[in-house]
Amino acid sequence: MATNWAVAAAASLALAMSAALQAQQAPSIRPAEGQTFTEVGRYRLQSNPWVNLHQRLLYEARFESAAPASLSDGELAAWKKAAEAYRVMLGKRNPIVDEQLIALNATLSEAHSAELPADVPEAAAAALRLAMPLYRVAQWQEDDRANRFWIAVAQPMLASAAEELAAAHTKAYGMPFPTHILVDVASHGWEFGAYTTGEGESAHAVISSLAPGTQGFAALEILLHEPSHAIVAPSAGAIGADLARAARELQRKPKYNLWHAILFYTSGELTRRALAARGVHYEPIILQMYDRGFGGFRQPLETHWQAYLDGKVSREEAVRQILIETTPPSQ
Ligand SMILES: [Zn+2]
Repeated sequence: MATNWAVAAAASLALAMSAALQAQQAPSIRPAEGQTFTEVGRYRLQSNPWVNLHQRLLYEARFESAAPASLSDGELAAWKKAAEAYRVMLGKRNPIVDEQLIALNATLSEAHSAELPADVPEAAAAALRLAMPLYRVAQWQEDDRANRFWIAVAQPMLASAAEELAAAHTKAYGMPFPTHILVDVASHGWEFGAYTTGEGESAHAVISSLAPGTQGFAALEILLHEPSHAIVAPSAGAIGADLARAARELQRKPKYNLWHAILFYTSGELTRRALAARGVHYEPIILQMYDRGFGGFRQPLETHWQAYLDGKVSREEAVRQILIETTPPSQ
């Protein structure tokens, strides 16, 4: 995901809330408290305190203060010390692509006790140990409640539509959709509220339960969009390889974010269809992005990629036409 979220659909949320209430009564669904996973087919969702604290500190280290509001002056000073240690540990790195940070998030995701795993690097471990008692008292209950609610809203949507949507993505990309999808639901999910690491059949997503753009029915689109990053890439894998081939043949350089716009369009349109088949009117997230970042992509995508998803043209032809209409020929 790569946008600022602004629009929350109140009507959608109300419906999803009633789904969540029903979900709590169903015997097959366990609350995702502490180490408990909520499993739905290929998806495993959790609300994990170590991942939540890690993501909160990462966010504060790079973007803006994410200190719990109820800390006393002395506690806030200790929290700031931990956040400063994270700033130093993080440096200029990006947790989406940095191998060590990807491994750290994965290790924390597997931590299911009050003890940190031994293989957490000391710089991060010291900060996490310092901040965790403060986080537990001042913020964790609130974060965990929001995360578990988000999971409870998502669960029945996944149970109804995930396999159908995974098959539709596999068909659209000509490549198998990931089969093992771990979702850490957290208060913060780096810059844009969600990101994914992993490759091929395994994906590890972090999704914010608080970002308005991930809530309500959009949660279903996000739960398809994020794992797609394990198979879609800028110049390889699904979409990327098609774009690279067309770029060579046409001597045109794709815009840097065209591959991501195609990913957005695909998950948005396929989710829209799945929800329409269930009586829901849904507006894909990309509709909010054509005037911020995806300018110039709307007409080509709605013409050619839509035609491809409708089975009217080949993927190769759609990608060629989109590339032609979104870039000038190179000289
Ligand atoms: Zn994305």
